[in-house]
Amino acid sequence: MMNERPDLPAIAGGPPAKTKPYGKAVRYGEEELQQLREVIAQGTLFYAQGTKVKLMEERFAAKNGVPYAVACSSGTAAIHAAMIAVGISPGDEVIVSPITDMGSVCPILYQGAVPVFADLDPYSYEMDPRSVESLVTDKTRAVLAVNLWGNACDLGTFRTICDKHNLVLIEDCAQAFGCTYKGRPVGTMGDIGCFSLNEFKHISCGDGGITIATDADLARRLRLSTDKCYSREPGAPRNPSFLAPNYRMTELQGAVAVAQLEKLDEIVIKRRDWAAKLVTGIAGLPGILLPVPTQGCDPSWWFFMVRVNPEKLGASADEFAEAMSAEGVPCSAHYTGVPIYEYPIFRDHSAFARGSHAYQTRQYQHGLCPEAERILDTCVILSVNEAYTDDDLADTVEAFRKVTHWFSTKDKR
Ligand SMILES: *Cc1c(COP(=O)(O)O)cnc(C)c1O
Repeated sequence: MMNERPDLPAIAGGPPAKTKPYGKAVRYGEEELQQLREVIAQGTLFYAQGTKVKLMEERFAAKNGVPYAVACSSGTAAIHAAMIAVGISPGDEVIVSPITDMGSVCPILYQGAVPVFADLDPYSYEMDPRSVESLVTDKTRAVLAVNLWGNACDLGTFRTICDKHNLVLIEDCAQAFGCTYKGRPVGTMGDIGCFSLNEFKHISCGDGGITIATDADLARRLRLSTDKCYSREPGAPRNPSFLAPNYRMTELQGAVAVAQLEKLDEIVIKRRDWAAKLVTGIAGLPGILLPVPTQGCDPSWWFFMVRVNPEKLGASADEFAEAMSAEGVPCSAHYTGVPIYEYPIFRDHSAFARGSHAYQTRQYQHGLCPEAERILDTCVILSVNEAYTDDDLADTVEAFRKVTHWFSTKDKR
């Protein structure tokens, strides 16, 4: 019995697989400081008079091979600006994912429009194009394709569906910086691509967002949509013609974003390398379903999400996550917990204190997207970081092996 001890998982009294902490990236350094010094020296923090936001926009557009990029204050702001720019209006329906950040759906509600939730693909965790198309009505104006976890939706099919039904395609790329679909950067298959630079994304400027577009008029409207519909062209009169918030990015954020953008390629390369090795290390373990990138897609791995098959594994997602955490591998089960439509704001239609909003005519309840609900019931999320080392990888794989072996053989013990 003694020589079996090292194979015991930590939950059964064995030594944890991971004893040294994971590598931790130093996200901000001299590059950001240098940009910030230049911004202070330039004497203005206002984007229209400064250089850094413009530089960030130019470089981000060039990186994505599109003519226009418009920076703003958050990912949510980017999506809202996109909704405004394409004219989403009260009563319109917008099709969106039920597993995402509230930042994807708030902008739909802000416009008085109705979020309609499409079910997901069980393997890629992305919106299923068949579900999307089945939800199109004469009120549908747009599809917000949420490119979850650094993977992308089946964007070619989405484009075809949107063209066929005369819908706008907006991409939420907040989790997908650097991901490509059939060799093209995400955000370029849609009419507008929206990105977030909040503290937790691939690159960050504290908070920030950016949209990309190919159409000049759409880009002009995107700019107005982030700046109270004021034109900042020299000599242009102030004559706002549609409702737009102030979502401007400051030069301070722009400066940090310029420095961060330089680091993006390296971050994505390292994350891809980690994910590829992790997949190799844990492929075929009993009861663990690995994420399947969308066909033609090269993900940038914002996080790594597996699903458990409780019968084959011999444990639920909670038990698995608990056992992995005991090994020193931080994991959490169920991601967002419930689909967006089960949050009180939808279930109880409690977005506003009074008055009426078009979304109140729609019922949001458990059962709406069965596959998304099954994903949430069985998923376990592991974080991915560009600073993780080969030792981190070996320990993580060891934890997976020990824990899955322990649970899957419990009937034989
Ligand atoms: C982070 C995120 C957002 C919102 O971005 P913020 O910058 O936090 O407003 C929107 N959609 C998705 C998918 C996200 O992950």
